[in-house]
Amino acid sequence: MSAIPTRADLAALPAYVPGRTVPGAIKLASNEVPGGPLPSVADAIAKASGEINRYPDMGAWALVERLAGEFDVPTSRIAVGCGSVSLCQQFVQALCAPGDEVLFAWRSFEAYPIVTQVGNATPVRVPLTSSHTHDLDAMLAAITPRTRLVFVCNPNNPTGTAVRRAELTRFLDAVPSDVVVVLDEAYREFVTDPEVPDGLEFARTRPNVAVLRTFSKAYGLAGLRVGYAVAADEVIEAVRKVYVAFSVNALAQTAALASLDAKDELLARCADIVAERTRVRDALLDLGYEVPETLANFVWLPLGERTTAFAEHALAHKVVVRPFTGEGARVTIGTREENDTFLEAARAFSA
Ligand SMILES: *Cc1c(COP(=O)(O)O)cnc(C)c1O
Repeated sequence: MSAIPTRADLAALPAYVPGRTVPGAIKLASNEVPGGPLPSVADAIAKASGEINRYPDMGAWALVERLAGEFDVPTSRIAVGCGSVSLCQQFVQALCAPGDEVLFAWRSFEAYPIVTQVGNATPVRVPLTSSHTHDLDAMLAAITPRTRLVFVCNPNNPTGTAVRRAELTRFLDAVPSDVVVVLDEAYREFVTDPEVPDGLEFARTRPNVAVLRTFSKAYGLAGLRVGYAVAADEVIEAVRKVYVAFSVNALAQTAALASLDAKDELLARCADIVAERTRVRDALLDLGYEVPETLANFVWLPLGERTTAFAEHALAHKVVVRPFTGEGARVTIGTREENDTFLEAARAFSA
């Protein structure tokens, strides 16, 4: 046995559980979109692949400038990262000293406790309400002098629920100005309710509000790893300092730019998914399932103790869902045919 000293606290680190890929089964487990890359995006990637002997642009400047133009903010207010998961970790590293607290709802995105502990900060989880939404009053009450960072995932992964403008404004008004609130909007493009605010409304005017977005979901680039943050200059400056050099690779930068060129086409695909979301949720409600209102590209089934059995049953019907043991199952909206296969499985389970 070797005795190499590693960080003792890593033993207590929760593992990130990725959605499973089972050959021959339909994967509705990772909130990916079902469509492969558009021909224009695939072409751009193929062209860029001829130069992968070169390092990527370290600051991804073409992409930063493009995003700055899209949102009409200075480039000093945008940071790109190797997926927005990576940016979540950068926020912790940039803002927290050991023992500082990072606050988030629970259940929410499973990366939050992991990146918090990796960053030597202390996770503070505030339970969702009984209707599976953020309890912003309880989160406010949980802020202490050690709190440096609050993640608000909107819409929330894995429940799909979203906080509205009025309650979010009240919350942000009450959060101390030296606590940074990160609005994680990975599913922004699937939001159809105008009362769910675009986080940029807040990030433009409030120095302690940041917005996180990703190319992994609506833009279909989960395999390439690129996301971005919009925040105040001084926050972005700090977040960039803890960036792992060259971690946003060249193909990801090119593909993100090509995807912005094809934005209309990609957003049209999101509209199809939104239509399917309504159809799937309505069908599940008809079958007697509880399904919270969702504004993302997935549904949440709070099945409690039946969760594991449900996931196994779905797998027997060749559908992979994402179970959270003892809590519920998250099911991504796929193509119409995939969703029909899932609904068949759900029908057989409730019967
Ligand atoms: C999927 C997801 C992300 C995006 O992660 P990437 O690292 O950009 O792929 C970020 N936040 C939440 C809540 C997500 O569900």
